[in-house]
Amino acid sequence: MGFDLDNLVRENVKQLVPYSSARSEFNGRAKIFLDANENSFGSPIIAGYPRYPDPFQTKLKARLAELLGIQSDQIYIGNGSDEAIDLLFRVFCRPQIDNVVICPPTYGMYEVAAAINDTVIRSTPLTPQFQLDIDAISEAIDDKTKLIFVCSPNNPTGNSITHDSILHLAAHFSGLVVVDEAYIHFSDEPSSITKIKDHPNLVVLQTFSKAWGMAGLRVGTAFANAELIAFLNKVKPPYNVSQIAQNMVFDALKMGDRVKETIAKIVEERRKLERALAEFTFVTKVYPSETNFLLVKMTGAKSVYGSLVLKGIVVRDRSNIQMCDGCLRITVGTPNENKALLNALEKYEASLVY
Ligand SMILES: *Cc1c(COP(=O)(O)O)cnc(C)c1O
Repeated sequence: MGFDLDNLVRENVKQLVPYSSARSEFNGRAKIFLDANENSFGSPIIAGYPRYPDPFQTKLKARLAELLGIQSDQIYIGNGSDEAIDLLFRVFCRPQIDNVVICPPTYGMYEVAAAINDTVIRSTPLTPQFQLDIDAISEAIDDKTKLIFVCSPNNPTGNSITHDSILHLAAHFSGLVVVDEAYIHFSDEPSSITKIKDHPNLVVLQTFSKAWGMAGLRVGTAFANAELIAFLNKVKPPYNVSQIAQNMVFDALKMGDRVKETIAKIVEERRKLERALAEFTFVTKVYPSETNFLLVKMTGAKSVYGSLVLKGIVVRDRSNIQMCDGCLRITVGTPNENKALLNALEKYEASLVY
């Protein structure tokens, strides 16, 4: 079972002649652009964006490549990393024929993207320690298994998946191992990006939505070998990342140190919150976290959720999810937000009659 990219890609995608946008046919220097039916007068309301954005985000990719020590052509930039998840299905999974492996409890979009692309899901739950069940995954895969999704650190459990198990999968599986590192910046574990050169079937997803604090801009990345990235580029919507988003992220990359400070603050708040939550009588377990959220097991999760909503505080109810019975997922907020949360929980606790 060797990895063969050409064999893995859907035939229609191999044959596809991608849409050729005005900006990709001519991207040199010119004085007058009359090729894309833009409005050369510009907007009377917002200056600066009369033109279609760079379809391949050249400047942003060059900067990212430099920072990460990889090549520009090993980077895909999308309208959030959710876009990259969807494109992986489109490039590799033949509807109703191929299958993918997901390891619940995990991020819900893998399943939704599979359903949208009419791809069979083979669900292989994590072990009780929330690690990959390698034996079960080996049993689940066959020659029609195209993708295995591994979320590390995992949402909603908060822990990292061991590098050994990820690399073992990559070495022994002939499809793609997709490692979703949306929360990697909060973890002490190193990214798997450094492994893409040794493992041509490894795809690493990251995002500017979490640690970088720009969820509203919708910018996410996929890192993999250049041939694979080229297929994502072939099927992506031509202008998938707005020029505002490209510019903002480019500027933000100059201030990585400030972002690191924010991350350190969030981690510190997480530690405080973790200790405070563990004190409540109704809380039975606060799971260790390498992310910006905590998975908290409690008695009466639904009524805790309801009482928080009444105080204007929304957390994520995960209590109906496999292996997360009685759990709420709580995002770490600012010190004030966390205080408000703890106050609300104290009132809830005081209202309990034993
Ligand atoms: C939040 C999240 C994402 C979404 O990232 P976007 O770049 O905002 O689309 C992806 N994966 C996981 C595990 C997440 O929690």
